[in-house]
Amino acid sequence: MKIHKRTRPTSYGMSMFLSTLVLVFLTAPTFFALADGPFIAPLAVPIKILIVPGHDNEVWGAEYNGMKEADMTLALGDDILNNLKNNPRFKIYITRDAIGYTKDFASYFASGMEAITTFKNEAQKLMQKKIKIGTFKRKSNGISHSSVKTPVALRLYGINKWADENKIDAIIHIHFNDDGRRNKSKPGPYKGFSVYMPDSQLPNSKTTRPLAIDIFNGLEKKYTDSTYLKSNGGVVTDQKLIAMGANATLLPSVRSVLVEYGFIYEDKFSTIPKRDSTFATMAEVTTNAIIDYFYPKTY
Ligand SMILES: [Zn+2]
Repeated sequence: MKIHKRTRPTSYGMSMFLSTLVLVFLTAPTFFALADGPFIAPLAVPIKILIVPGHDNEVWGAEYNGMKEADMTLALGDDILNNLKNNPRFKIYITRDAIGYTKDFASYFASGMEAITTFKNEAQKLMQKKIKIGTFKRKSNGISHSSVKTPVALRLYGINKWADENKIDAIIHIHFNDDGRRNKSKPGPYKGFSVYMPDSQLPNSKTTRPLAIDIFNGLEKKYTDSTYLKSNGGVVTDQKLIAMGANATLLPSVRSVLVEYGFIYEDKFSTIPKRDSTFATMAEVTTNAIIDYFYPKTY
């Protein structure tokens, strides 16, 4: 994903974190009902996690020094997959491997594009209606993301549809950032990670928030919060990213977090050994946040 500018950040601070922490940790892992939101079905074991390494072999996102974002997101996604795949409390899915989209997704995209297009169009229509009657307010977090072409957008909506149908409990979208500087062969001025969650008006916002905050806090212990989002200091809410369930395309039970783990030109990604060790740490932090969210320790 590429950022261009940011004007007004939205964030959740520590007090919000603590109040949601109490609410969620008292009710998870087997039951998940929210007092002021829609009823969320009890969680079934194993918990289903979908890992989405951002971009793919055709549209690979950012690139720096011959290193493609899509290869980095896959390497980190694989690390998270490997951390959780032998844990009987979880069932882990991933959208692609070294060859391309995994069997489930390749066939879903190949045979289901018409249904995915209808899913997207219907959701957009419904959202327009909500905006018109004032039950959903458009607002910007000040970050404009590079727009995606239709086939890419449809695949992302397809992932949302698949996740809804397959009762996925959480989606982790993996990305690395880049900035809009002119000379792409030189590093840019920013560094650090950003964590995105759905806007508060989207159905999966409340369920996602504690997970997003957990991932943020875990990463913050090891890495710099994005210097691009300097005034922010927390999780960023977004209503336009398809990955966050734009147009209310993700059910309340499908938590979705998008992490920009750093800027592609940062030194910690510059060599294979550095990447390997950085990804191992980032995967561990993400894995621990997922486990803590669904199976909180009771002290
Ligand atoms: Zn990206």
